[in-house]
Amino acid sequence: MLRCMPNAPPVSNVVPVRCASCGALLATTESEGLRIQRGHFEAVIDGAFRASLVCYRPKCRRINVVTVPARS
Ligand SMILES: [Zn+2]
Repeated sequence: MLRCMPNAPPVSNVVPVRCASCGALLATTESEGLRIQRGHFEAVIDGAFRASLVCYRPKCRRINVVTVPARS
C-alpha cells in the first residue's frame, strides 16, 4: 500500500478475486471497477470486460478469467 490509512473504514462492497487453483488474491472488484494491486503497481479498470489474470505464484501460473459486468 502506498497510502497509510490506519483508521480507514472497511469497504463493504469489495469482493476478492482469488486464483481458482491456489487461492492467491489476484484482484478485487468494487464499486470503482476491477482493482489490481501488486507492490507499487495499482490499476483500476472500469466498464464491462473480461480479463485473464495469470496467477503470480511461480508454481501455479493458472489463468483465471474474470468477467466484470457493466455497472447499473
Ligand atoms: Zn494460483
